[in-house]
Amino acid sequence: MSADRTLPRRPLREWLSSALIALALLFLLLWLATLFRGFATNLYTEVLVPKDSYTSHQRAIAASRGRLWFAYVRAEVIEQSAPHAKKTRFWYSILPRDDEVSRYNGPGWLAWLGIDWKWKDTSSVGAQGHYVYQELFFCVPYWLLITLTGGIGWWIGRGPRLVRRRINRGLCVACGYDVRATPDRCPECGHVPVGARDAAPANASS
Ligand SMILES: [Zn+2]
Repeated sequence: MSADRTLPRRPLREWLSSALIALALLFLLLWLATLFRGFATNLYTEVLVPKDSYTSHQRAIAASRGRLWFAYVRAEVIEQSAPHAKKTRFWYSILPRDDEVSRYNGPGWLAWLGIDWKWKDTSSVGAQGHYVYQELFFCVPYWLLITLTGGIGWWIGRGPRLVRRRINRGLCVACGYDVRATPDRCPECGHVPVGARDAAPANASS
């Protein structure tokens, strides 16, 4: 009587669970980094500033003040705009200074939690032409990101992990009873493992 020792293939849920937990750890590291640096640290910035043209497009993902930021700033005179050269800069900040970012336009209770945003559009038509100035900032606190990704990751992965742990220890998948002596059928709850159920017909037909 040979027990089917092969583990089931990792289901998609388990991979997703691991990915989410890894993401939670990454957020935790970034959070710690913001605590040590204390000031805006850009993780990624895309700057579009062609020469001889009053145009500036900037997009950034930043870590600052315990929060993850998404920032977008566009300053442009449409008539003088030229094709953009795209540059990616790391560790380059376009966020406002610390003392300016304490409060934006989000509702009070969300801002209290650390979720806040700012949308500013002062575009106008002047002597130079169409002047566009737009700012968009959005921030989410790391504790929320860590709680969500880590919590969801743990939640969806706990089923597959439990099954794997029980199989590894020779326990019944359904109830956790020790079935090392009776791998084909659990004496406690009557559960028949998938491997044992498939083995008999497969051998008979071949
Ligand atoms: Zn059982």
